[in-house]
Amino acid sequence: MATAGKVIKCKAAVAWEPNKPLVIEDIEVAPPQANEVRIKIVATGVCHTDLYHLFEGMHKDGFPAVLGHEGAGIVESVGPGVSEFQPGDRVIPLFISQCRECRFCKSPKTNQCEKGWAADHYDVMALADSRFTCKGKKVLQFMGTSTFSEYTVMNQIAVAKIDPAAPLDKVCLLGCGVCTGFGAAVNTAKVEPGSTCAVFGMGAVGLAAVMGCKFAGAKRIIAVDTNPEKAEKARVFGATEFVNPKDYNRPISKVLAEMTNGGVDYSLECVGNVDVMRNALESCMKGWGVSVVVGWTDKHDFSARPIQLIAGRTWKGTLFGGFKSKDGVPQMVKAYMERKVKLDEFITHNMTLAQVNEAIELMKRGGCIRTVLSVSRH
Ligand code: NAD
Ligand code: ZN
Repeated sequence: MATAGKVIKCKAAVAWEPNKPLVIEDIEVAPPQANEVRIKIVATGVCHTDLYHLFEGMHKDGFPAVLGHEGAGIVESVGPGVSEFQPGDRVIPLFISQCRECRFCKSPKTNQCEKGWAADHYDVMALADSRFTCKGKKVLQFMGTSTFSEYTVMNQIAVAKIDPAAPLDKVCLLGCGVCTGFGAAVNTAKVEPGSTCAVFGMGAVGLAAVMGCKFAGAKRIIAVDTNPEKAEKARVFGATEFVNPKDYNRPISKVLAEMTNGGVDYSLECVGNVDVMRNALESCMKGWGVSVVVGWTDKHDFSARPIQLIAGRTWKGTLFGGFKSKDGVPQMVKAYMERKVKLDEFITHNMTLAQVNEAIELMKRGGCIRTVLSVSRH
């Protein structure tokens, strides 16, 4: 490869500061160091967690950064010590690593690998170190991935090699939203056949949770969203009913309890709002109901009456749907290729990296499920 070992100059969307549009800049991407791979990003989805960092979390130490964490691409070159990857491999960057060596990777109970940015940087959402510079300044790597860039450098513990036949502009969604929602239902909630589920928030994450509930054999899947336009999509993924909390002047948990003779077996919060998290818990059946927090926030505390748990409900959370990332993503790619899970139906818009601000505004307005940006040609 002509570029191997050299600094690559390329385009990236840089978030210079919170609450401002991203700026398409020429950046420099240094060659991969030991155990690292440099990836040419072909396509990326825009996920609400990108918006969270930009408009809600706004952690001052988390800028400037290249956002984006739902991408797919092709290995351009590899650093010393990398044997698992070679140039030309099709890959998905992982915002949660799987080193296979730490105590978390060795435990079947969790996917929270001890290595990588997520170990102790939930608030800043990046590590201090990165391979990006722009105009002489260090630019941070958001969630350890930064897919709003033509090239990015990742440690090999956070890269999944996938079927070379998989369409990168579709399977990029498995880098975050779809695995997160699907896994939240299948791995974290462990939805059982014949059960009744409620999913709050019909973005890509929530729709994927609906798909997961259906996959697991749920009998009733109640989709909850304040945007009535989401009802139709919810049905495409398997929702049997749709409820808009704005249509009622009593708490949605009461409405759901009435609809289900006491409460749902499983509820999944895919909004990122602490009030909705409480409502989701309170929508569960006493005795055995399980509620999973999927929506992302590090800004607010949540609360609930202890009696909710004393009465036998369980409150859980999930990161990346509980999937061990390097193992889980190629399996989900395979499931898509075998038509066992849907991906195309999540994509409502296709744009280019240069249109990233348009894509962000669209998501803010609730005007899309997923926009996929084409980042570079291949
Ligand atoms: P999105 O913005 O596309 O979807 C959110 C949906 O929630 C929208 O349809 C909106 O209308 C709906 N909503 C808003 N307020 C509501 C309310 N009060 N009641 C019911 N519905 C309401 O977002 P997304 O990309 O699908 O992401 C969803 C959440 O999941 C975000 O918080 C994101 O940060 C989080 N997330 C978490 C993980 C994880 O690993 N836990 C990974 C990815 C995303
Ligand atoms: Zn995401």
